[in-house]
Amino acid sequence: MQKLVWRVKLVADFGDGAAEIGVEVGRIERDEFAVPETLGLSLAEGKRVAAAIQTEMVRAQAATMGERSRCCAHCGADLPSKGYRPVTFRSLFGDVPLRVRRFTSCQCREIVDEPRSFSALTLEGGTAPELAYVTAKFAALAPFAKVANLLAELLPVGGAVNAGTVRNRTRRVGERIARLRPEGAADPNIDAVTPAVVVGLDGGYLRSRHRRPERNFEVIAGKVLNLDGSQHRFAFARNDNSASEFANAVVSAGVRLGTPATVLCDGAPGLWNIQRQVMPEAILVLDWFHIAMRFEHALQATRGLGAGTSSDYLRGHPIREIESAKWRLWHGRSSACLGRLARLTHWFDAAHVRDVRGVAAVRRHVNDLIEYLYANQLALVNYGRRRHDRQPISTAFVESAVNEILSKRMIKKQQMRWNRWTAQPFLDVRVAVLNKTLAGSFRRLYPNFQPDNENCPVRLSA
Ligand SMILES: [Zn+2]
Repeated sequence: MQKLVWRVKLVADFGDGAAEIGVEVGRIERDEFAVPETLGLSLAEGKRVAAAIQTEMVRAQAATMGERSRCCAHCGADLPSKGYRPVTFRSLFGDVPLRVRRFTSCQCREIVDEPRSFSALTLEGGTAPELAYVTAKFAALAPFAKVANLLAELLPVGGAVNAGTVRNRTRRVGERIARLRPEGAADPNIDAVTPAVVVGLDGGYLRSRHRRPERNFEVIAGKVLNLDGSQHRFAFARNDNSASEFANAVVSAGVRLGTPATVLCDGAPGLWNIQRQVMPEAILVLDWFHIAMRFEHALQATRGLGAGTSSDYLRGHPIREIESAKWRLWHGRSSACLGRLARLTHWFDAAHVRDVRGVAAVRRHVNDLIEYLYANQLALVNYGRRRHDRQPISTAFVESAVNEILSKRMIKKQQMRWNRWTAQPFLDVRVAVLNKTLAGSFRRLYPNFQPDNENCPVRLSA
């Protein structure tokens, strides 16, 4: 049978009139008789051709840079060569071993305190920005080992791509890039105040890989909702720095000193402390859902009061009292609500009530409720009016952010060897991916960075 052969040639055109010389970068053979599996390129052939093109291009570019650096850019003097430095350039299309030329810095520049020698090509550790970006982007969504397998299957990525490599690259992106203000984002030092924002704070726990020094550590996560509907997630491990971490997070979300803000949270005392340090003038709102849940617990216990005894007529009074306390709270009358509940606890002490079956449990629930409301008294608002004015009264919008950021996959399946001090770069990458700011942050560092896949929708599964 007749064979078909394609020779893939790469022709460099440097536009200087020199003869173009083609380099063969691939050879593809097929039988004349094509079947679906032999139609077009196979993955292996595609990877091979891409890797060969990459090697040729990168070497040619490095050589060109070597030529250009021969002379001083300022005075034109020839520069003494300092030989070559071996580097491996790691990219999505394979590893390219290179010899990068080094030169002695020109004497005309000595006054400006430049280093004594320089490389013709700066490679910063040798990893291509796009490789770092793609790796970190997927590592925010899937376990490191899976990311390594996926990249190795689809691309001619070189080196030992394994979970450890993915993890290290992701960490470096988290440390160096994920927090950079994305290109095009407002500059907090210059740009105007954001009209009004709602900030939701919540916490979640991550399990440390090692039991020491602690088994779990708390991560504070939340969301800033801007008036224009845009959302900005943030997350940081709880430590001595939490207040300044929170300040950074709200500033990078566009919140400025003087921005009218509402802070919602579920009443964890540590969270209010952080809010007070950073946004002391914000309107505080205790999450209505958590309040309602506590009322419901008290009501459920009350419904079982004196069950099966002649005293079960007693439950009518406390049920009415609890419901009317809740109604008062909904309408912003928190003192009246607390008064009702306090009166109810006295009623439980009355001689004809205190021995009824179940009273102790109800009393405990009502006491918990009172303590919870007292502890968060400054954050009790007129929920009915807020609801009427379509203002948020629940932190549900934050809890979804917490679940996104601290999904079970991230905690359990990735076998994170991290703790409250090492988790931050990974949290930063994940937050940047969810906020869709990662590419913009890369552009802050690499102005020409333009990933093709930038607008691919990012979907998360739990
Ligand atoms: Zn010079």
